[in-house]
Amino acid sequence: MSYQVNEKGYYGDFGGAYIPEMLYPNVEELRTQYIKIMDEPSFQQEFNQLLKDYVGRPTPLYFAERFSKKYNTKIYLKREDLCHTGAHKVNNTIGQILLAKRLGKQRIIAETGAGQHGVATATVCALMGMDCIVYMGAIDIERQAPNVARMKMLGATVIPATSGSKTLKDATNEAIRDWINNPVDTHYIIGSVVGPHPYPDMVARFQSIISKEVKWQLQEKEGKQNPDYVVACVGGGSNAAGIYYQYLDQEDVGIIAVEAAGKGIYTGESAATSALGKEGIIHGSKTLLMQTEDGQITEPYSISAGLDYPGVGPMHANLFRTGRGEFISITDDEAMAAGLELSKLEGIIPAIETSHALAIFKERKFNPDDVIVINLSGRGDKDLNTYIDYFKL
Ligand SMILES: *Cc1c(COP(=O)(O)O)cnc(C)c1O
Repeated sequence: MSYQVNEKGYYGDFGGAYIPEMLYPNVEELRTQYIKIMDEPSFQQEFNQLLKDYVGRPTPLYFAERFSKKYNTKIYLKREDLCHTGAHKVNNTIGQILLAKRLGKQRIIAETGAGQHGVATATVCALMGMDCIVYMGAIDIERQAPNVARMKMLGATVIPATSGSKTLKDATNEAIRDWINNPVDTHYIIGSVVGPHPYPDMVARFQSIISKEVKWQLQEKEGKQNPDYVVACVGGGSNAAGIYYQYLDQEDVGIIAVEAAGKGIYTGESAATSALGKEGIIHGSKTLLMQTEDGQITEPYSISAGLDYPGVGPMHANLFRTGRGEFISITDDEAMAAGLELSKLEGIIPAIETSHALAIFKERKFNPDDVIVINLSGRGDKDLNTYIDYFKL
């Protein structure tokens, strides 16, 4: 059994492409081209060069000695926080912009919630001199002023989505509408392993550089390529897909996914999709999502904007349903405490998304000789105000 996508675009029961007919030509062009283009030597060459010189890869695999001692096990941190722009998201946007260029597109659109994906997209558009339009909920534009300013400095146009709840879901609808109206010259850069096939697989492949590096880095440090566990926080699931990718079908490696329980799984203010989700369709793929009895998508909540998503990608829905992945949910309070703890023990201030993954050691015990690799998906600079308010710093 494989946990990779099959040729129909499914991970077990999940995935596929549930899209309006008018979007079919765009998605079909991508589906028939993406692997062919990604396999071209010139693509590989340009992608790897940019990952090295622009993003700063390979990112270190760091043995966290004091953190390990505290929990009496061996913990390595994969330092995606050291990527240019401060998180893993740029691995994907670099890949997609190179793909868009080879498809002859000149115009890039994206949707963003907290603005992190918008910034990663605006960054690579500046790099390549392409037009960049970012759709963002009007409420999110107010809440995330620094990221809006970054996107503008990078030359992007930020268009507010003013319908519905004026947040991510509405921005996504606007982006899809734009793509339908501009099928020839426009590529839509989706920011996580979500959306219709081939997006989840395409984004997972771009992020798979993370576990590809872990393999040789762990070989150097531990004399073996496989850790006992790989751990990541899951919003849509792209940093997790990146660190799981090379290990998906190697069942000696445990897969741990950490979701945001917000104020508590059953408080009505949470984003614990696996615990609360039911099968449904969101952003063009069949997956697990949080919804009411009659199928209305419920608003998620988490203190971390990047985990505040009502679904998970289809790869993760399948890892949950098959039991291949172990899913743990962590509350706001637990995550904040873990973020402060890592700062004090290791001198690394993590993004609050990442802090959720770091918090598992309070409730999940490991053996002293277990080797655990946590994806340190991003740095905490963007979250400083939240840390300040929470800890009254
Ligand atoms: C966006 C983001 C996430 C969540 O997105 P995934 O697609 O689940 O990885 C996690 N960590 C950081 C630092 C982010 O910026």
